[in-house]
Amino acid sequence: MTRAAPLSARRAPTRRAATGVAATVPAVQIPVDPRPDIAALEGYHSAQVDVDIRLNTNESPFAPPESFVDAWLDRVRASALHRYPDRAAAELREGIARQFGQPTERVFVANGSNEVLQSLLLAYAGFERTALVFEPTYALHSHITRITGTNLAVAPRGKNFEIGAAAASLAVARYQPNVTFVCNPNNPTGTVEPFDTVDAIASATTGLVVIDEAYGEFAAESMIDRVDEQRPFVVVRTFSKVWSLAGVRLGFCIAPEWAVTELEKVALPYRLSVASQLAGVEALAFQAEMRDRVGRLVEERERLYEALAAKPSIDVFPSGANFLLFRAAGSPDPGRGRALWQHLLDQSVLVRDFSHWPGVEGCLRVTVGTPEENDAFLAALATSEP
Ligand SMILES: *Cc1c(COP(=O)(O)O)cnc(C)c1O
Repeated sequence: MTRAAPLSARRAPTRRAATGVAATVPAVQIPVDPRPDIAALEGYHSAQVDVDIRLNTNESPFAPPESFVDAWLDRVRASALHRYPDRAAAELREGIARQFGQPTERVFVANGSNEVLQSLLLAYAGFERTALVFEPTYALHSHITRITGTNLAVAPRGKNFEIGAAAASLAVARYQPNVTFVCNPNNPTGTVEPFDTVDAIASATTGLVVIDEAYGEFAAESMIDRVDEQRPFVVVRTFSKVWSLAGVRLGFCIAPEWAVTELEKVALPYRLSVASQLAGVEALAFQAEMRDRVGRLVEERERLYEALAAKPSIDVFPSGANFLLFRAAGSPDPGRGRALWQHLLDQSVLVRDFSHWPGVEGCLRVTVGTPEENDAFLAALATSEP
């Protein structure tokens, strides 16, 4: 076995035992070195502040229906909790498959769609492989790319935050990615990408095309129907947003069966608890309630959009999701965006601050809340106007 240079030569402190036994023990270095690429990374940041109106994380403003909670807890109570959960999560996967008219073999489930994304990168990317993102987009796509040791390729979005078929093909030809991420609708911009962009990527790539539809239910169309065995499409969904279950941590993807086979190899066995699986199963029985909530939020989004668009002091961008990106009119000035964020916070309204993010300079993102929350947001915003 080869040994690296003595650690003590590089760094204090060294521990020495009084017994003298330590002489044969390697020098202790605290903290222990992580992977250098991890040491250089920043963790995930999103301000969590105690406020009256919280519109910063794109959760549903509605708690799940009480009858759902009762049905779920009854099932949990009746479960054999001393046993491991069903490793295949069969009932949940069958339920999801039925909802989308896809075979069960095309459904992969995990703890939140973030774990689905991680599994996709572990199986299809990693060391000496590349994932492509179109910025500005969901921060966790590049973050999970990095923590899986994958090379990150970044291509810019156009002036209306669209990717575009031609630009997408060029980027794919240039970077030869093993995984290409398309967030649709895109977070944090709300942009809905036309289908020809993903088709163009699919024709240009030899890798996987991962379409993150965390906000898919709020948009008019979904890519799920395009998933089949002959194409490299994977559509990722979550129970966190429209299903009002962010606290449960449940996500899934619809993917070709050959991809699900590989995903199951890298994901941990028994990863989904009995409680999580049953939450998903029972939630699927509440389609009508879910659709009703989506409808109400889309109405509120449109109302909020009109209200913001009517303000000469504000620029707002079109959105197919449950949030809106906006900024001081004509001003990509990060300082001004930050000041507006602080002004809202001073009135106990928390939105997400993107003012210093490359590509969305000066911008803030507001999650669509209940009508009352949205009114409070608009009222707080109005006091910032001259
Ligand atoms: C919120 C969000 C998710 C959700 O992640 P979960 O782990 O399922 O809570 C995934 N993708 C995007 C783009 C999101 O905005």
